Amino acid sequence: MLGMEVEGRPLMRAYSIASPNYDDELEFLSIKVPDGPLTSKLQDIKVGDELLVSSKPTGTLLLDHLLKGRNLYLISTGTGLAPFISIIQDPTVYERFDNVILTHGVRYVSELAYQDFILKDLPENEFLGDDVKEKLIYYPTVTREDFHTQGRLTDLMNTEKLFVDICQSIPNPEHDRFMICGSPSMLKETCCILEQMGFEESRQGIKAHYVIERAFVE
Ligand SMILES: Cc1cc2nc3c(=O)[nH]c(=O)nc-3n(C[C@H](O)[C@H](O)[C@H](O)COP(=O)(O)OP(=O)(O)OC[C@H]3O[C@@H](n4cnc5c(N)ncnc54)[C@H](O)[C@@H]3O)c2cc1C
Repeated sequence: MLGMEVEGRPLMRAYSIASPNYDDELEFLSIKVPDGPLTSKLQDIKVGDELLVSSKPTGTLLLDHLLKGRNLYLISTGTGLAPFISIIQDPTVYERFDNVILTHGVRYVSELAYQDFILKDLPENEFLGDDVKEKLIYYPTVTREDFHTQGRLTDLMNTEKLFVDICQSIPNPEHDRFMICGSPSMLKETCCILEQMGFEESRQGIKAHYVIERAFVE
C-alpha cells in the first residue's frame, strides 16, 4: 500500500513494486487518474515530500507458486507491467526458466513504459545482461495506434499470433507457466483461455500453472 497524508489522514492505494527485491530504493509505476483521490495529488510530489508505504507487502505473483517449467509468460496490460519489471530483474527467474516472455498490451505507444530500460539498459546490465540477451523476449502490443504489433493480447493468444511471432509452440501445461497482471477484464479473459487449454491457477499457495494479480479495481 502506497499513499500520502491528505487533510491529516492517510490516503492509501494498492501498488506493485517495480524495483527488484535487492534494490536499495523502491520504484513504482503509476497511472495518473485526473480526478483520482490519490493520483491527482501524487503526480505533483516533489523531492523531499513525504509518502507513506505500508511495511508488509502482500500479493500472489510469486515464482514459488508456480510448478517447474520451461517458458514463463508474463502477461500484462497498462500498469500491470510494474511487478514484471521487478521480476525480469530477478536472477532466479533466469535460473528457473529457459525463456521469459514479457508481454505488454497498451492503447497508445506512449504508454509503453520501460521500453528503453527493457531493450537497451537491461541487456547491458553487468550481472543480468547475458541472461537477458539469451532468455528475455519482449512483446509489446498497441490497440489504438499504428505499431509493429497491434491488437489485444487476448486476441493475439486466441489467434495464436503471439506464439507464432515469438517462434514458440502453443503453450501447454507441461512446459509453460503464466503470471498475469492487468485490467480485470483482461485477467478474466486470459484465465478463460488458459483454463480451456488445461492450465490450473495456483490458489492458497499450492503450486500450479499460473498466478494472477489485478492491476486496479474497476
Ligand atoms: C493489487 C493492486 C495493485 C495495483 N498496482 C498499481 C500499480 O502498480 N500502479 C498503478 O498505477 N496503480 C495500481 N493499482 C491501482 C491503484 O491502487 C489506484 O487505483 C490508483 O493509484 C488510482 O488511485 P486514485 O485514488 O487516484 O483513484 P481510484 O479512485 O483508486 O481509481 C479511479 C479509477 O481509475 C481507474 N484506475 C485506477 N488505477 C488504474 C490503473 N492502474 N490503470 C488503469 N485504470 C486505473 C479505475 O477505473 C478506478 O475506478 C493497483 C491496484 C490493485 C488492487
